Amino acid sequence: MTQLDEKLEPVLDEVARRNPGEPEFLQAVREVLESLGRVIAKRPEYADDALIERICEPERQIIFRVPWIDDKGRVCINRGFRVQFNSALGPYKGGIRFHPSVNVGIIKFLGFEQTFKNALTGLPIGGGKGGSDFDPKGRSDAEVMRFCQSFMTELSRHIGVYTDVPAGDIGVGGREIGYMFGQYKRLRNSYEAGVLTGKGLSYGGSRARTEATGYGNTYFVQSMLATQDQSFDGKRVVVSGSGNVAIYTMEKVGMLGGTVVACSDSNGYVLDENGIDLDLVKEIKEVRRERIAEYARIKGTGTHYIAGGTVWDVPCDIAMPSATQNELTGKDARKLVRNGVMAVGEGANMPSTPDAIHIFQQAGVMFAPGKAANAGGVATSALEMQQNASRDSWTFEQTEQRLATIMRNIHDTCAETAEEYGAPGDYVLGANIAGFVCVAEAMEALGVI
Ligand code: NDP
Repeated sequence: MTQLDEKLEPVLDEVARRNPGEPEFLQAVREVLESLGRVIAKRPEYADDALIERICEPERQIIFRVPWIDDKGRVCINRGFRVQFNSALGPYKGGIRFHPSVNVGIIKFLGFEQTFKNALTGLPIGGGKGGSDFDPKGRSDAEVMRFCQSFMTELSRHIGVYTDVPAGDIGVGGREIGYMFGQYKRLRNSYEAGVLTGKGLSYGGSRARTEATGYGNTYFVQSMLATQDQSFDGKRVVVSGSGNVAIYTMEKVGMLGGTVVACSDSNGYVLDENGIDLDLVKEIKEVRRERIAEYARIKGTGTHYIAGGTVWDVPCDIAMPSATQNELTGKDARKLVRNGVMAVGEGANMPSTPDAIHIFQQAGVMFAPGKAANAGGVATSALEMQQNASRDSWTFEQTEQRLATIMRNIHDTCAETAEEYGAPGDYVLGANIAGFVCVAEAMEALGVI
């Protein structure tokens, strides 16, 4: 662990005292504070007026009951969350996660990260995040719809085009966004398309939003590789997860000449030395909603399914964690380094533990933190808001072009900021400082908020 600046130690202590039992939130705050020592050495005014303390405190946290009825007629209860973290740059913006592990600490870590990520996009969006401990796995469409309607019945009081604009995340894709938007529209008797992003194309969604996070991460890694005269061409790539981010990461990696040999879900991973057949993964995950084990069962010879194993055991040139937080540990990082990994691009939020990041950086592995590398999703969500506001609809090419430019800019901003603060090649430091300075400047200008 990096030593904290002595002015920042009490800040972290206070965050720990006020947020007990929230290890993911503390981990995310600590990582940003570790980068800020160099900022306050250069610009001590940022340590004044409790600015950093204020940035670590969400503006508003909403926790609510979500009652709904399952297919057997039983009443079920889940807990809903929306953490409106920071609105200095624009309306709160960030996804909704449905997963049994969701709690307020996880939503806070995601909202905190989102604030800096959104700043890095250069677009006018604040940071927020939401979700529920509802588990959509094994639930019928009708159950998911009733849950989404009940969730939105409460959430609708707190969101709006100019207030807070949620989107998808783990367990929330096109189906769930559709049900939630439908309920919002009924409740408001008003067609406010810009209140949610990740919508379907038939009712105000943006082309390229589905692909944006995975494509964006791949573009970021492409820029990072180019700094060392490298590219995806001919590289062996491992991607964790097999959801939205993983699928479109695999797709873009393939387009750029890389071969993805393994992907996973929470039960295990599949290895296919001929390159993962993406059409089959899409069929299994997006249409049938089945487990990744099906891949090996359908493909047969030449493919392997390893139940319960970690995908990071598979040797690769480039690793792209795209499942969930803390899925890549120090042990995994050591193995990847031993196997010759040259670059890591985080599609998920905080997938690498602090230990793992340290190991990659010490070994000279190029490391792209999620805060910067997975910002393509929210950036394209902001483009969706822009299209909704102007009642326009852009082509796929036009939207993807904007995404590619935004990702290149984020890459360059992180690289230049790291250089300026004396740590060339440290994208973690670059992303944290560039995101922080952007939010801090806006907050200073707005008075004590
Ligand atoms: P999906 O629900 O579409 O897919 C998640 C994938 O990760 C699934 O394959 C899932 O497997 C796996 N996974 C989830 N939890 C775990 C776990 N505890 N252990 C192992 N595997 C797990 O989600 P997304 O693809 O949308 O999100 C993936 C990551 O990307 C998250 O960290 C999210 O916050 C981040 N992200 C997403 C964005 C987006 O636009 N969607 C934008 C920016 C970041 P299983 O089905 O078995 O649970």
